[in-house]
Amino acid sequence: MVSRRAFLKAVAAGGGAMAAGTGSAALPRARAFAALPDALQTPPYAIVLGSVQDGGLPQAGCYTDRCNRARVNPRYVTSLGLVMPARGGPDSRRYYLVDATPDLRVQMDLIDDPAFRRRAQARRPFDGIFLTHAHMGHYLGLAYLGRESMGMLPTPVYCTAAMRGFLSTNGPWRLLVDEGRILFPDIAPNVWTTIDGAFQARMTLVPHRHEYSDTVAWEFRAIRRTLLYLPDIDAWNRWDRRIEDVVREVDVALLDGAFFRPDEVPGRPVETIPHPMIPDTMTRLAHLTGGDRRIVFTHLNNTNPVLDEGSSEAIQVRNRGFEIAREGTIYAL
Ligand SMILES: [Zn+2]
Ligand SMILES: [Zn+2]
Repeated sequence: MVSRRAFLKAVAAGGGAMAAGTGSAALPRARAFAALPDALQTPPYAIVLGSVQDGGLPQAGCYTDRCNRARVNPRYVTSLGLVMPARGGPDSRRYYLVDATPDLRVQMDLIDDPAFRRRAQARRPFDGIFLTHAHMGHYLGLAYLGRESMGMLPTPVYCTAAMRGFLSTNGPWRLLVDEGRILFPDIAPNVWTTIDGAFQARMTLVPHRHEYSDTVAWEFRAIRRTLLYLPDIDAWNRWDRRIEDVVREVDVALLDGAFFRPDEVPGRPVETIPHPMIPDTMTRLAHLTGGDRRIVFTHLNNTNPVLDEGSSEAIQVRNRGFEIAREGTIYAL
């Protein structure tokens, strides 16, 4: 465990801030996502790569207006990219992925950076991959890194021992492990770990349907800000930590906003798919809005009306000082 002061000292001595982005890349942008000014793309930062629940948007078998609109302008499953400064020239940034979703194949293109693309072409896009748990939206994307697709070179995957056990003993993931494409550095829950001398990360166990693995929230701490990524939890009051206390300690909180109302999913009682409701979360955290802190709902289910930007629910979220995650948004860290 490294103290924040020692960590900042090390970063100041070594990496420091890098130059701004080197311009737009050759790939066309996904049409749903706005262009971002290069000035914002100075590492360290996090970029939202996806904002919806595991099933994606559109969801298979869903033909609501919302899902049909998303057949033209898709949203992606909840995920983040982290871009961190590193010593050396403009190509020496470090790139990390937080959750590997079934949309990974196209999500990677949101990292609009020629240096990243050169690395991806060289089959080592990420310096590390952080995983929360073994539900389909959070790790199936690893399949695109295996032999049938990218054939990724050895890359650290940070996760719990249970998640590591799951990936190491079940096909097809096991092949990624056996072929040495994914490595598992030792990392313990509840303590800050310095990653590559570039930033710090901490995973904390959260209560969530533990079918294949346990589940964690991740926090990432760089020179300016701390970001919390907590896409899945059954209920705030089943956690041994108070969400109010956790959010108070961070600058950016991306939280489980799967549902707005308990009766959203027709024919499926919410007890079978427990998540906090957005209005309850807003009530709990109302006193923490305002100022520079950003509290952002992500992991939005395809039934959630906040996915429609003009809905009364989305307007209510914004008016109360909260945000709705959107692909391409950058949070400076
Ligand atoms: Zn999920
Ligand atoms: Zn889950």
